[in-house]
Amino acid sequence: MGKAKNFRFVLGLSHVLSFLRLGGWLKVYWVKSVLNKHKKRDEWFLDDYSVNPYFGCPFNCVYCYIRGSKYGADMAKTLTAKINAPTILEKQLRLKAKKGEYGIILLSSSTEAYPPIEESLGLTRKILKTILKNRFPTHILTKSTLVLRDLDLLRKIDEKAVLPWDLKQKLRRGVIISFSISTLNKKLAEVVEPGAPPPKERLEAMKKNVGRRVFWLVWFLFLSYPTYPTLRRSWIGWLKLLRLMVQNLFWLGL
Ligand code: SF4
Repeated sequence: MGKAKNFRFVLGLSHVLSFLRLGGWLKVYWVKSVLNKHKKRDEWFLDDYSVNPYFGCPFNCVYCYIRGSKYGADMAKTLTAKINAPTILEKQLRLKAKKGEYGIILLSSSTEAYPPIEESLGLTRKILKTILKNRFPTHILTKSTLVLRDLDLLRKIDEKAVLPWDLKQKLRRGVIISFSISTLNKKLAEVVEPGAPPPKERLEAMKKNVGRRVFWLVWFLFLSYPTYPTLRRSWIGWLKLLRLMVQNLFWLGL
């Protein structure tokens, strides 16, 4: 994440109060670049770019691919806000737009764009404003219902976004919101996704908001048996989850 200074910093009174409420401090970085261009579009998420407003992740999923890498075993401890990301992104997107290099931006690939601190910090919201201004399409991949706060901006992005030429006929949407769900079992979720909101909240949020001009997707994460032998009984949970989704395909506008 760029050569940036790493020190603890308090942004203002409202943030002091929210940090106190959370019982901790937030580390912040000043980055030199925040837009990652992929060599090839991802076939699953359709992203040509990714933006990570934060470093680390308080949801701490046990299956997360960033776990144990430079982010550490406890990714909540390394949570860091890329505090100047909206300003840097504005410069980077303006250049890309000038060259006509439109592509889908994934928020996010190696963090959660909506950790609890986002509620008071509004970093992801500022990033979305920049994306809207520069008319880039966006894919939000999240486990947090806080994404609902930004539906106003996301609808505008959906209307204004310029899709890459090869997706114009196939996609016709400027915004995709995806929730990832590994289980509907609350107790199991508390083990495998200890910091994330309960999975049922995600489904409820989606159910309430489908049909409000936003395209929703759900990604099932099938936890692997050899890695998590204690999760064997969760087959039943997965089957229930599949049944629930099939029964409710209309939520997704399919
Ligand atoms: S929410 Fe995503 S980035 Fe965060 S720990 Fe879980 S899988 Fe990793």
